[in-house]
Amino acid sequence: MRFKKLYVVGSLCIIMCLSAAGCEGQQLVESNEQRDWIGAECDNRETCAAWGDEVAEELELYYGSLVDMQSVELSAEEEERSEEDEAIIAEYQIEGNAFIGDIESTDAAEHERLWNDFAWLFPLEERKMVTAFSVFSHVDTLAHVVQHEDNAQEWSLAMNIDPAIMSPEEKMATLVHEFGHLLTLNSTQVDPFVEQRSCTTLFLDEGCASKDAYIYAFQSRFWPELAYDYNDKQFVSEYAAMDFVEDIAESWMNFVLTEKPAGATIAEKKVLFFYDYDELVMLRAELLARVASWMERYAKD
Ligand SMILES: [Zn+2]
Repeated sequence: MRFKKLYVVGSLCIIMCLSAAGCEGQQLVESNEQRDWIGAECDNRETCAAWGDEVAEELELYYGSLVDMQSVELSAEEEERSEEDEAIIAEYQIEGNAFIGDIESTDAAEHERLWNDFAWLFPLEERKMVTAFSVFSHVDTLAHVVQHEDNAQEWSLAMNIDPAIMSPEEKMATLVHEFGHLLTLNSTQVDPFVEQRSCTTLFLDEGCASKDAYIYAFQSRFWPELAYDYNDKQFVSEYAAMDFVEDIAESWMNFVLTEKPAGATIAEKKVLFFYDYDELVMLRAELLARVASWMERYAKD
């Protein structure tokens, strides 16, 4: 999850296709996969690390830091409202690139644009587990992902509808953070069908981490204790100190969106952690190519 200020742990009950009409699939706009990409200009770990750094540096020169969240001061009344649950506005099914919703809804096109903000950034192959999308309003929750209650291999993405709550940079970084959860908690990484008593690695709400799961390696290396106080030498953000699930998502976001650090602090070592995985270095380059075109689209708007 990613919040402006508060951290809330909760689960969503996904009710798909509330009405019969809602189940008639309609693809409202052409697949975003058909758009032209700049594409990452690299094909191995070394060249992709270097190419990614070039793009990350250019992006920062142009837009400023992409990972700093502007903190907001909530009024007393907003503070109270931040405790409230998100108000779900609409829920949709996702099948590949098809956005299946109630076409009668006047807001469906707007909601699909919000979905496309996510779909634009991540290759279909990497986000196949996302089979539901919901739109909500809330005073400071930006977005979250939730494992499906009945089909544990499937996930739902939820996004805040209010454009005023986050800048384009914050929205993009938030989506990279949420994708970090999908990357580290999906059923190929964390087996939802292994019970706690049979789990010899790391047991999470989502299931049992596989022996070579990113999150197991990260937790073993950086979270020998159960809880930590925040300090900037150890964590890439205050939010990261919440728990190792948020720490790996925040560190992932910094890995994707900032230049490769020297590794002088534990916080930097947490970012370097991802460079141990060739496939993630290549994925970072691809995501940065997409981030560049995503940001350009917003700059044009
Ligand atoms: Zn999170």
